[in-house]
Amino acid sequence: MKKENQNDLMEKIVSLCKRRGFVFQGSEIYGGMAGLYDFGPYGVEFLNNLKNEWWKAHVQFRDDYVGIDSAMFKDPRVWEASGHVGGFSDPLSECRKCNTRIRVDKELKNIGISADEKMPEKQLQELFEKNKQNISCPKCGAHDFSPARSFNLLVKSNLGDFTGEGKNPVYLPGEACQGIYLNFKNVVDSTRMHIPFGIAQIGKAFRNEISPRNFLFRTREMEQADTQYFVRPNENKEEYERVKKNRFDWYVNLGIKAENLRFVQHENLVFYAKDAWDIEYKFATGFDELEGIHDRSDYDLTQHMKFSGTDLQYTDPHTGEKYIPWILETSVGMGRMFLAFLTDSYCEDKIGEDTRVVLKISPKLSPIKVAVFPLLRNKPELVEKARQVYDSLKKEFKCEFDDNGNIGKRYRRQDEIGTPFCIVIDFDTLTDDAVTVRDRDSGEQTRVKVMELQKYIKDKIN
Ligand code: ATP
Repeated sequence: MKKENQNDLMEKIVSLCKRRGFVFQGSEIYGGMAGLYDFGPYGVEFLNNLKNEWWKAHVQFRDDYVGIDSAMFKDPRVWEASGHVGGFSDPLSECRKCNTRIRVDKELKNIGISADEKMPEKQLQELFEKNKQNISCPKCGAHDFSPARSFNLLVKSNLGDFTGEGKNPVYLPGEACQGIYLNFKNVVDSTRMHIPFGIAQIGKAFRNEISPRNFLFRTREMEQADTQYFVRPNENKEEYERVKKNRFDWYVNLGIKAENLRFVQHENLVFYAKDAWDIEYKFATGFDELEGIHDRSDYDLTQHMKFSGTDLQYTDPHTGEKYIPWILETSVGMGRMFLAFLTDSYCEDKIGEDTRVVLKISPKLSPIKVAVFPLLRNKPELVEKARQVYDSLKKEFKCEFDDNGNIGKRYRRQDEIGTPFCIVIDFDTLTDDAVTVRDRDSGEQTRVKVMELQKYIKDKIN
């Protein structure tokens, strides 16, 4: 029963996203491509608002962080240094009946067996052999799988390869954070940042995911919002706790219900990691990773120092001491974040006999902040006044003008996309220069002078 409801919720979100122009399947008119999505007119506003809030919290409001935006293509040796060319792989198996590929660690987890992709390959293969008769193919239901093998997730390209032979491939970024490591020295040399400090970046990443699934949850092209915080060696513990708390609080402050978030510690740490936790969110499909927070020691800069031959040590400006900083990382996929916020805010309210779908999302994130309606579309004096109000507000907020259909329908349309304020211009407006502002969540209506509208809305949003 519970499962049905959860699937139901996912279906409703996917359908809302398509119907109202939040998210479309990539290359849809050609039949669609797995694991690729396009953000539509409301989706891109929502996504940009998420990015802006993230950026403000990690760059604008912080004196100890700066931002960068690095090129996607990098020297191919970067991906050797990072371990992606050799080891960035997921364990894959193929259904012998219908050739559907499954991700072995995830399927083992689904049947209650502790496994993850970072386990030694041999151990995972053995676990799979022992348990694969209990796993069903998601497509045909058969239990007949090939042995598990590793599948590299990097996406190759041919930038500057004019021979067409593909001898010297470059790679699309498997993770966005490498751009930060590559620019650590540049930032130290060109700014007055001193350790401890952080670098933030939102960048694209590409992974040949074996089984893209659950809408925006697992895609082949994604955007990651990353922070890397550089600390003195061994001075990681306290900062790590602070970074963890910071990220958790960020979600809660933007409206995610705390009971839908939880911390889960990694059981199998890669050899260089000191600690690793995920923030999991209760998606429609159950709790799953939303964001990774990793205590990575000096691994990344040491590797790049080795592979590039460039000295990446930091020199303490007071003592002259030289060292390779340790790194605390946070990394979240923007698509997963988008899906988490949508899931958390999706509501169906009963109003009499009717059900209204409403996204009770923080006004800071809403794609449209204000919708302006003339009470009647066939009264030019109302339409003209409504246009004036709309034109003045749109300089400050993303607004929408709507004179189509009855007011109730116009409210529903805005509720569904999470617009926090609807403004109605009626006959009284023409004499008292005041409008009715209707609040999305409470339905409360307040009369506000046109002169005071901008400030009223700004205060409410903030
Ligand atoms: P998973 O175990 O789910 O594959 P991961 O541990 O490989 O994720 P990281 O490499 O730590 O993920 O990436 C950091 C973040 O990037 C994840 O927490 C997630 O939010 C996001 N992310 C990773 N892979 C994908 C993907 N294929 N689609 C969407 N977001 C992703």
